[in-house]
Amino acid sequence: MNAVAHKNPVHRRNDWHHLPVDQVADDLKTVLDDGLSDEAVSSLRAQHGENRITPQPGRGPLLRFALQFSQPLVVVLVIAGVVTAFLGEWVDSGVIFGVTLINAVIGFIQEGRAEDALAALARSVTSEVTVLRGGAKRRLPSTALVPGDVVLLAAGDKVPADLRLFRAKELQAIESALTGESTAVSKHHKALSPDTLLAERGNMAYAGTVMVRGQGAGVVVATGDATETGRISRLIAEAPDLTTPLTSKMAVFSNWLLIAIGLLAVLTFAIGLWRGESAFEMFMAAVALAVGAIPEGLPAAMTITLAIGVSRMAKRRAIIRKLPAVETLGSTTVICSDKTGTLTENQMTVREIFAGGVSYPVSGSGYAPTGKIADEPDLDSPDSCALRECLLGGGLCNDAGLRKSGRHWEITGDPTEGALLVALRKGGLDEATLQKLFPRLDEIPFDSARQYMATLHEIEGVRIAYFKGAIEQLLPRSTSMLDAAGVPVPIDRERIEKIAGEMAVEGLRVLAVGRLASLSGGSLDHKQIERDDCELQFVGLFGMIDPPRPKAISSVKACHAAGIVVKMITGDHAVTALSIASQIGIVKAGAEAENTVLTGRDLAALDDDALRGVAQAVHVFARVEPEQKLRLVRALQADGEVVAMTGDGVNDAPALKQANIGIAMGLAGTEVAKDAADMVLTDDDFATIEAAVEEGRGVYDNLVKFITWTLPTNFGEGLVIMAAIVAGATLPITALQILWINMTTAVFLGLTLAFEPIEKGVMRRVPRPPGTPILDHALIARIVLVGVLLLGGSFGLFLLELARGHTLAEARTVAVNVFVVVETFYLFNCRSLSRSALKIGLFSNPAIWYGVATMAVLQLSLTYVPLMNQLFQTAPIDAHAWMEIFAVGLSALLVVGVEKHLLHRRR
Ligand code: ATP
Repeated sequence: MNAVAHKNPVHRRNDWHHLPVDQVADDLKTVLDDGLSDEAVSSLRAQHGENRITPQPGRGPLLRFALQFSQPLVVVLVIAGVVTAFLGEWVDSGVIFGVTLINAVIGFIQEGRAEDALAALARSVTSEVTVLRGGAKRRLPSTALVPGDVVLLAAGDKVPADLRLFRAKELQAIESALTGESTAVSKHHKALSPDTLLAERGNMAYAGTVMVRGQGAGVVVATGDATETGRISRLIAEAPDLTTPLTSKMAVFSNWLLIAIGLLAVLTFAIGLWRGESAFEMFMAAVALAVGAIPEGLPAAMTITLAIGVSRMAKRRAIIRKLPAVETLGSTTVICSDKTGTLTENQMTVREIFAGGVSYPVSGSGYAPTGKIADEPDLDSPDSCALRECLLGGGLCNDAGLRKSGRHWEITGDPTEGALLVALRKGGLDEATLQKLFPRLDEIPFDSARQYMATLHEIEGVRIAYFKGAIEQLLPRSTSMLDAAGVPVPIDRERIEKIAGEMAVEGLRVLAVGRLASLSGGSLDHKQIERDDCELQFVGLFGMIDPPRPKAISSVKACHAAGIVVKMITGDHAVTALSIASQIGIVKAGAEAENTVLTGRDLAALDDDALRGVAQAVHVFARVEPEQKLRLVRALQADGEVVAMTGDGVNDAPALKQANIGIAMGLAGTEVAKDAADMVLTDDDFATIEAAVEEGRGVYDNLVKFITWTLPTNFGEGLVIMAAIVAGATLPITALQILWINMTTAVFLGLTLAFEPIEKGVMRRVPRPPGTPILDHALIARIVLVGVLLLGGSFGLFLLELARGHTLAEARTVAVNVFVVVETFYLFNCRSLSRSALKIGLFSNPAIWYGVATMAVLQLSLTYVPLMNQLFQTAPIDAHAWMEIFAVGLSALLVVGVEKHLLHRRR
């Protein structure tokens, strides 16, 4: 089998696990240490295409269109159409079917657009991978991979293609996407027997699974559809779900309304018959009541408003992955934010080094290695031995890269580590030379729960392990420290803590370096280090600045004004965290750490009840382990808070899922965190969260505006029909005319509210308590008020027209125009829920004016075009009638304006 496989590597599948790594590399014509060359990549790319699984076709357009007819309203219309046809009313029946069709087409187009927009957003969060090509590490989109590429894996990565691993250090993966098993499995690089089952192939990493621990490297053996996942097609891009708690609540509301209206319609029919009206007339009245009172535009308008919100947020660099987040954002009461990279720039610069009992200030800023270590010490002199060791430790125990691109210096990898490389160069050393001289034999990758990293090297025949990490991790394990000449002397912990404390007070991030000299084995593991008798030598400290993001200060202030509490949850040191928190305004300047900061250790000592009280009161949490974030979220939620929580690492995923809004970092975040999040920040900036909350509030407002605008029409139409039946009068508007009003105004007037810009002052309101009804008493009263105005205006003018001797068609045309004109004027009232239409700027939403102009054309054609007159039983009306119609419209505008003014003053 081996021989066959060897002859035909390209067509072979599934059987890489039993080959020695070298043979895999030979078969795929790649070099494990360097990766593929650029030429090889382009020909392989032509052969294999993009590394992307062809999505399976979702619901086809025909099915989607057909599903439009399954909505309850449409079913009612279809029944009405069939019965009218049966009664021989061909025109009515034709128009009803026409309207049904138009409704379905509009629904189909709008739904398609919203789905496309959401799907495009989901795709825009591309995943990147670290690849070795031509001997250099590169970050590439995962779609660019080809078989033979050498991929470097770290905890938090989503495996981008099927890989045969050739290096694995404590590597663990969750393969539930493939095997359904949700516990992590360990990975290794040893060849396995040919008959090993897929789920047991520990030396393979499969596309779509995620790495949750450790580090490793593998060769791509299959990409795109050729991967295991591609083969079984489990990773199909699913159509995004367009429902949110609010839309589903409204759908339920609409269904109940439908039943209630159905019953009312039957009642109307019965009353009419009982009064001796013709069955035909009464049937048409019942149909009119049903189609009039159902707010048919509501579900579509809500989805569209939400979709517009999503795209507005994307423009402000917040990608929504789950639609309900748009709504929830607006009611967020607490934002728990990481410090590094979200509230700060994540642009580290070493400002101070402490080694051998001496403090060395370091000049320069950013990643350009142009500054100096103070006094330019000669690193070869015996007096600078500790400094040299410190720089060496920082440079070797390091996975970052530093290079000049054009005139700028750039780093790849972790900024904390990048800053150490810059300091190394300022000392006259460079990492590439060091790494060649003292190659890495083994490593313990950094993990934020353990807070340190270690690497093993051979230096002049001696094995030395370098450590770097949080001072709390290294200092307790150190039994000696290096003096200036590099000689181990008894450790002075107090002095070191004092220096570290001074650095932290200035807001510097402190990183300690230590070493274990003269090791015998060729490998490193946690157990070796976490033993009680581990005798670490303390080498030195790096103090680096990470300035607050300029916009963080104003955003935190804006959140406070909006009634949102901001909490900093960081892995960093308590004093550093406090210093940054007070610079940003999360806590008052001059606050003492003991009272204001809670550390991970304090947190661990509290039970859930005690944590609830503390979680509310404390705003800075330091040295927090990712797992503790979950407890914090739960504690806050137990007190009824709506929590937004940021995260970037694998271990943050549970907290992101638990939070009401999980927010992942687009730049520094792992794939696992992004998958768990509701929202991804493409710039990792705290200010973006604030912007998204503002948009969320705006979207919610616009939804309420649409509901407040649309319901009076339905209410008014229902009232008109009922009143006519009760009074035994002719219907002032027919079923067809009602359909016309509802369909045209919902699209051309109501939907324009979705484009309303965010009102000034939304961020000066307190968050909306979750669970509050969409419409408060004042809005319900307004809906009733406008409904009654519509009844009075249309019925009144209808009767007046008849009394003046006008025809029924003319009187009905007037009634229809009253509805449309009142709705148009009322639309301006609805542009703001509390402020006057004039105050928010008449032209601040151009969509309104396009809508009004279109509506005017449509109404004029309904009134004056003979074909329309024939279809809708309308007739031309005179200028006098128009004046009366406009007088009704204007008075509605004024009445609601006064009502809003009085209400606003009372509040
Ligand atoms: P935040 O949680 O706000 O993003 P953070 O980046 O400080 O803050 P972690 O990444 O969990 O949080 O780091 C915790 C601590 O671990 C740091 O304060 C530092 O002392 C240490 N540390 C961070 N990065 C490294 C690294 N690459 N190597 C070694 N130690 C590190």
